[in-house]
Amino acid sequence: MTQLLSDVDFSEICVGGLFGPGSGGTARSIDPTDGTLVADYGIAGLDNVEDAVAMGQAAMADPAWRNLKAHERARVLYRIGDMIEAHADAIAALQTRDTGKTLTETRALAMSAAGTFRYVASTLETLDEDLTPSRGPWVTMSVHEPLGVVAAITPWNSPIASDAQKVAPALAAGNAVILKPAEWTPLVSLFFARLAYRAGLPKGLLSVLPGPGRVIGDALVRHPLVKKVSFTGGTVTGVRIAEIAASKLMPVSLELGGKSPTIVFPDADIEEAIAGVLYGVFSSTGQSCIAGSRLFVHESIREEFVSRLVERAKALRMGRGDAPGTQMAPMIHHRHRDHVAAMVDAAVAAGARVLCGGEVPQGEFAEGAWYPPTILDTVTNTDTICREEVFGPVLAVLSWRDEEDLVAQANDNEYGLACGIWTRDYKAAWRIARRIEAGTVWINTYKQFSSSTPFGGVKDSGLGREKGRHWIQAYMNQKAIYWGMSEEPIGWG
Ligand code: NAD
Repeated sequence: MTQLLSDVDFSEICVGGLFGPGSGGTARSIDPTDGTLVADYGIAGLDNVEDAVAMGQAAMADPAWRNLKAHERARVLYRIGDMIEAHADAIAALQTRDTGKTLTETRALAMSAAGTFRYVASTLETLDEDLTPSRGPWVTMSVHEPLGVVAAITPWNSPIASDAQKVAPALAAGNAVILKPAEWTPLVSLFFARLAYRAGLPKGLLSVLPGPGRVIGDALVRHPLVKKVSFTGGTVTGVRIAEIAASKLMPVSLELGGKSPTIVFPDADIEEAIAGVLYGVFSSTGQSCIAGSRLFVHESIREEFVSRLVERAKALRMGRGDAPGTQMAPMIHHRHRDHVAAMVDAAVAAGARVLCGGEVPQGEFAEGAWYPPTILDTVTNTDTICREEVFGPVLAVLSWRDEEDLVAQANDNEYGLACGIWTRDYKAAWRIARRIEAGTVWINTYKQFSSSTPFGGVKDSGLGREKGRHWIQAYMNQKAIYWGMSEEPIGWG
């Protein structure tokens, strides 16, 4: 990593594969473990946006890319996946410095990005077009074509993995992509661009433009030649982007926030449920859109379950992201940690009881952006702490009596991203899984992903799906082609 930081000049942004200073100056990326500087990185200006769009437009229209057969384009994507995997350790080390996350997690994110490129490449090679049943004297077909220049706007919580989830399918579809990483975590995205070009991506097809969302992100969304925005981030930002997209009649995909319920039935395997609840809400130090942050435990087992859960939460190991065995690494930034602490303080002032955590740690953790696993009791589902996304390691304990009561409470929230169900009763699991308003339901597991299974949210958690066999077509226009086969002129005029 030290070598990477001295080898790669992060003050250079990537405009269509040309690396140089951004016209917006530089900003500092800080290690949340101790507040020290990781690197100064380049900030794009509006002229960089114009150049990136123009280069993307030219590159995607170039026959050298446009005329590639699907299996030929797929080869470029396979090579990018291999290049990411070959550098997984360096990516992980860099990302751990930039985000504070554990090395286990950042390595998994790098491998997930490599896997995304490979899955998308194999999907591209095997995508069929439709010969539709003819209803007249024509042969009818439905084919897919690239959209144009696509903007990918990503948050700070899973860099490289969320970058790949947008860049891979957009490139596979034949588009050019401009990636706007989050202000707190641009380094891995800049390094990723270097790897993509080293793997043979033709110039112009990928730009990485760090910078403020309200300036660079906004300029991308409004740009007349940007034909789709694929966004992951907060709901307020997503709605703002959707409003602008509507005025351009531009498709958007929105992966937004969550406030997901985790449900424990009285017949659940308690050991498995405790492990799943802990992992679901406290891994990634709670900075996960799918965090299972509202626990609904059946009232008949509430006391015993919660007391065991609290003991286990207290035993989670806080530490540096690069220290072996760390489970609770620092949060992304001191400012975000303070925001989480303020939400917990407000919940306590409103009557919540702290069962564990709830205070900014001192001593050896004083310098970093740590916050401990926190479990809050004596809340109701309508309290702010149960309605709003905390995006930190905070679990609210609620209980339920019967299935009607459970479904009503679980669905009484603006978000609809995910849900966890812990039970041995497979029929009950099915009933509840089908009634919960969520994009993903995990039964007797939590926070698992597969490239082949579409992911996304309902309600305020988003619009559209990523992953799965239709991943690439989400970045394409569908076109109908009619081949006239009649030997007679059209009988009119
Ligand atoms: P955010 O909305 O503040 O920022 C996300 C990105 O949008 C950043 O790159 C930012 O610079 C950019 N942006 C900000 N304002 C913009 C504007 N006006 N126009 C265009 N771009 C703009 O979110 P965040 O704080 O970085 O990330 C945390 C949020 O992301 C949480 O709500 C979390 O739930 C959500 N998230 C969702 C998923 C999912 O798959 N559903 C995954 C990860 C994170």
